[in-house]
Amino acid sequence: YQPQMDLRSNRITGVEGLIRWQHPVRGLLLPADFVSLLENSGMIIPVGEWVLRQACKEYRLRREAGFEDVRVSINVSAAQFNDAHLLDKVRRALQDEQMPQYALELEITENILMRDPVSAVAVLRAIHALGVRIAIDDFGTGYSSLAYLKRFPLDVLKIDQTFVNDLVNNPGDAAIVEASISLAHKLGLEVIAEGVETAEQFEFMRTHDCDSVQGYYLSQPLPKFELIELLQKRV
Ligand code: C2E
Ligand code: MG
Ligand code: MG
Repeated sequence: YQPQMDLRSNRITGVEGLIRWQHPVRGLLLPADFVSLLENSGMIIPVGEWVLRQACKEYRLRREAGFEDVRVSINVSAAQFNDAHLLDKVRRALQDEQMPQYALELEITENILMRDPVSAVAVLRAIHALGVRIAIDDFGTGYSSLAYLKRFPLDVLKIDQTFVNDLVNNPGDAAIVEASISLAHKLGLEVIAEGVETAEQFEFMRTHDCDSVQGYYLSQPLPKFELIELLQKRV
């Protein structure tokens, strides 16, 4: 889990769940090493449901440690988003794990949404009706439509790290980040910047009214108990 910090309160208000595979021979694997394999084999459906369940179970672990205000977001792949049972699976996970719906957020990339925007609107509405938050991930990297951005029921826009990396030296990237923050706010969305690694990038987000940040500057993704230790030190 990687913490997300609210720049107004300076508190950790969310975490993103990022899958890892502890492989018996190859060691700890990152999503780049195996997520496309899961997608191509269809395994992403059961594994994605496992991720959802773990996120809810481990939210409960944090709540018991006194951190019920820290919500959790998980990444939803294309196959999961197109799965006719997605809504049922989310509803059941919330029920079985006694997870408050407002503490769960689903991250969906703009590429997934834009593949079939008309049915995406319907799926997003149904998720939203459950009270679950929706974030648009990797914003600005794909083929996106502003007309649909306006129509999708979204809560959060995640500015992709490719725009954050070179922000301080590249006026083009700085302009894109500023414009994205302003666009998001005018559409009533919260904005979070991903991949914030340096004090300069952090300060840029603060002075340009970005709502939250996530990145190595605050913390790398952490195993569940280390995350609780970090929260105990700095929430
Ligand atoms: P993402 O959702 O955009 O996640 C952000 C990625 O950026 C994560 O990589 C995170 O570790 C990395 N990151 C965070 N802060 C920094 C930083 O300051 N600098 C740099 N250079 N990188 C940073 P990770 O964990 O390797 O995940 C990569 C992608 O794999 C994710 O991108 C997401 O699309 C996918 N993914 C991760 N977990 C899951 C999952 O449970 N299900 C599915 N379907 N996809 C997942
Ligand atoms: Mg994500
Ligand atoms: Mg992203």
